Amino acid sequence: MKPVRVRFAPSPTGYLHVGGARTALFNWLYARQKGGTFVLRMEDTDEARNTDQARQTIFDGLRWLGLDADEGPEQGGPCAPYSQSERQSIYALAIAALKAKGVLYPCFCSRERMSALRTTQEANKLPYRYDRLCRSLAPDAIAARLAAGEVPAWRLFVPEGKTVLNDMVRGEITVEHADIEDIILVRGEGTPIYNLAVVIDDHTMGITHVLRGEDHLTNCFKQIIIFRAMGWEVPAYGHLPLILGPAGEGKLSKRKHPEAALEHYQVRDFHAEAFINWLVLIGWSFDDKTELMTRAELVERFSIERVNKSGARLNIEKLVSMSGDYIRRMDSASVRAKVCFHLVKAGLIAEPLSAESERKVTAIAAAEHERLKAFGDIVEMSRWAFADDLPMEEKALKNLKKDPGNALMLRDWAATLCDPLPDSATMEGAARAFCEARGVGFGQFVHPVRAALTGRTAGPPLFDCVKILGVQHSQHRLLRGADLAHSAAS
Ligand code: GLU
Repeated sequence: MKPVRVRFAPSPTGYLHVGGARTALFNWLYARQKGGTFVLRMEDTDEARNTDQARQTIFDGLRWLGLDADEGPEQGGPCAPYSQSERQSIYALAIAALKAKGVLYPCFCSRERMSALRTTQEANKLPYRYDRLCRSLAPDAIAARLAAGEVPAWRLFVPEGKTVLNDMVRGEITVEHADIEDIILVRGEGTPIYNLAVVIDDHTMGITHVLRGEDHLTNCFKQIIIFRAMGWEVPAYGHLPLILGPAGEGKLSKRKHPEAALEHYQVRDFHAEAFINWLVLIGWSFDDKTELMTRAELVERFSIERVNKSGARLNIEKLVSMSGDYIRRMDSASVRAKVCFHLVKAGLIAEPLSAESERKVTAIAAAEHERLKAFGDIVEMSRWAFADDLPMEEKALKNLKKDPGNALMLRDWAATLCDPLPDSATMEGAARAFCEARGVGFGQFVHPVRAALTGRTAGPPLFDCVKILGVQHSQHRLLRGADLAHSAAS
């Protein structure tokens, strides 16, 4: 058996589609399981869209997911270069061989002729397709036109017959060659179009298995015809089902769904292993029930046979819950490091961290560890803790002003706080005793206190909020809350 060589071949369009990330994952898992090689190839022939930033988005996305390539534009390797834009001399050689073998034939048809053809075909309700006129040009006629300086495009010579594809996912599919157009494969200026570059690359890079989105299924037959005509070994193909929008409403597209771009998840910073675990389950399952699997388990268990044929829907709630599960299982030091990273990035604290910031980060990480679903969420979850003058939520203000006794209660309770603060449970015990002594219910206490401390109605457990703010800030906010409550009462 030949060693497995698979590839991920994204076109740098400015973002990495989540379906592309899944294709990369499936290829990576397959390579790792078989002890094979995972190749990254940049399909960057569209110069207008091919910016460094677009390439970087792909590198960053794969790095975030831990899908390390064995060969690629960054790593190099025996089949370098790995960007199509740098492989023109390889294409030129292969194109010469294809012409010599008669796989390509020159087409001198003008734009005008082609548009007239289209008009006629449309009028006759026929699909628009090249009528193969130049196939019948005699060799000396071709030579004469070339000598006269005419520049042809080069078309695929589709022979008679049919092509049978034994797709690893979709099973056997047969296409009659009568239904395949003699498409242009080489432009007038000599550069290959997509379908040809892919074949030359897959051949020269020794790719044994091609796993890619099912949007490439129709291309596949043309590609196989080229492989066969050249006597090159055809790789095994598996076409993965499309990812559908969250409501199952057709293909997931960036225009309609921000969730189509991998960056969306990267910025929110879901737990990357949870993301992988979630992504693998879109269109694949191990046994229809097991969901939580480590990367090592996935490498062991992944199988192309269990990839679904039909489209799979994106289920964001499931990702949120899985990521929360993964984060809960993390140790507190790692969560704290992530929390710190995001708070610095958002500008809520600055490096080098002051002792006060260190303390605050530790308190926030401890308080939110259980509730955190994605690391980036921590910024909005804890903004309240950093600015004393944040506007209050309307409902919080209402809680504060509800009872005329609130002002005094807040002042009195503020006076009970002192350094060092005890743990949250002890603080709660003391607060309950405080309420009992005043004859107020605990519920009458917690809502105005939360409002005063955080300006919000929801957040971490109340006494964790006190820990996060520290004694001085807590007292300051309680007194400010008392003033607000007082102004309502008077
Ligand atoms: N470059 C193509 C894409 O981004 C993939 C080509 C292939 O996998 O054959 O859709």
